[in-house]
Amino acid sequence: MYNDPNRDLKQYNTFGLKSECMGLIHIYHEDEVLEVLEKGLQPIKILGGGSNILLTGYVPAYILKNEIKGIEIIEEDEKQALVCAGAGEKWENFVTWAMSHQLAGLENLSLIPGSVGAAPMQNIGAYGIEQDSAFYSLKAIHLSTGQRKTFVKDECKFGYRESVFKNELKDQYFITHVLYLLKKSDYTLNADYGAIREILNEKRIIDPKMTDISDAVITIRKSKLPDPKEIGNAGSFFKNPVISFVQYSELKNVYTEMPSYKVSDTEVKVPAGWLIEKCGFKGKRYGNIGVHKNQALVLVHYGDGNGDEILQLAKEIQATVLNTFGIEITPEVNIW
Ligand code: FAD
Ligand code: NAP
Repeated sequence: MYNDPNRDLKQYNTFGLKSECMGLIHIYHEDEVLEVLEKGLQPIKILGGGSNILLTGYVPAYILKNEIKGIEIIEEDEKQALVCAGAGEKWENFVTWAMSHQLAGLENLSLIPGSVGAAPMQNIGAYGIEQDSAFYSLKAIHLSTGQRKTFVKDECKFGYRESVFKNELKDQYFITHVLYLLKKSDYTLNADYGAIREILNEKRIIDPKMTDISDAVITIRKSKLPDPKEIGNAGSFFKNPVISFVQYSELKNVYTEMPSYKVSDTEVKVPAGWLIEKCGFKGKRYGNIGVHKNQALVLVHYGDGNGDEILQLAKEIQATVLNTFGIEITPEVNIW
């Protein structure tokens, strides 16, 4: 455990926003969480890579920065392997580790920033899959009682960028380890996402390997998404709204080019980025903050701004989208 005298969170959030907190404690082993609880330090907030938070000012809490490392195969047979990863491992490194061990299931989620422990929080997803397709269980510690608990998949209530930890159990558990069941053989790779398919076609790859999928994802991500090291951002600020097919059909009469993806027989998902772009926000800069020029779903911080400015812009975008389309868009980013 390391009690960091520097409580400035600027280097710990990918928006690059300045903010302080009651205390910043780095946790290297799960037992250290219990030590913090024994000291009576409350309230507590957990921080991974800070790539999905918006800091809107002083954080009135002790922040536990998760640094729990380690990746190991717990069990395996000729078809699959059960792998346990420390929640403080970088997600990106975990995916690379899996591929280097010929373990499939996470390749579409290459290059997503952040920690392994935050992956179940919002059931991270990209390019056609979500982490729950390979998730097995996770280990966590209750932040009031110190009780250790294993959550199996059903208990996590995974949904589209959702889990029980983002809702009913918000801020109640410190996730210490996550277990994934990865495939060694008899698996089908997911190459259906349009942009992946285009790259594979361009390269004339007919029978892709997991590294081909991963390379395609990395190429697309690098070409489209702003690198937080260059410009502050937390990825998609909003979730893509899911609306009824009836509402979509009415809107489509007016906005004939409005895209959609089927979710169920009665619902479709509409890309929030398209809605925001149609409202004229794409690429707009407002002093220190703005909307990214390539992807309207990403709000950006150019430096010297603050989280409240970003929150106000987010609210203005939400109100404009609601007035224009009658569709409510909600933040994906955790607002602190
Ligand atoms: P943090 O931002 O540190 O925390 C996020 C939330 O999880 C907080 O509420 C925090 O308290 C909680 N939390 C973190 N760790 C723990 C833990 N161990 N125990 C309990 N609670 C915890 N997301 C996607 O889903 N798909 C994408 O394709 C994607 N692309 C992105 C691209 C960019 C450029 C950026 C900046 C972000 C992107 N994101 C994406 C969002 C983000 O990377 C993910 O949500 C990631 O999982 C956040 O991890 P983190 O460790 O940075 O979490
Ligand atoms: P995109 O390919 O331009 O597509 C726009 C949106 O349409 C996506 O958000 C995606 O929804 C949806 N979509 C596109 N093709 C789809 C398909 N075949 N089936 C179902 N839905 C489809 O999106 P992008 O912004 O470049 O992002 C690409 C992927 O990376 C997406 O999966 C996105 O979620 C993910 N990503 C996430 C973040 C984040 O912070 N959460 C940041 C960057 C990228 P979904 O988002 O539901 O997939």
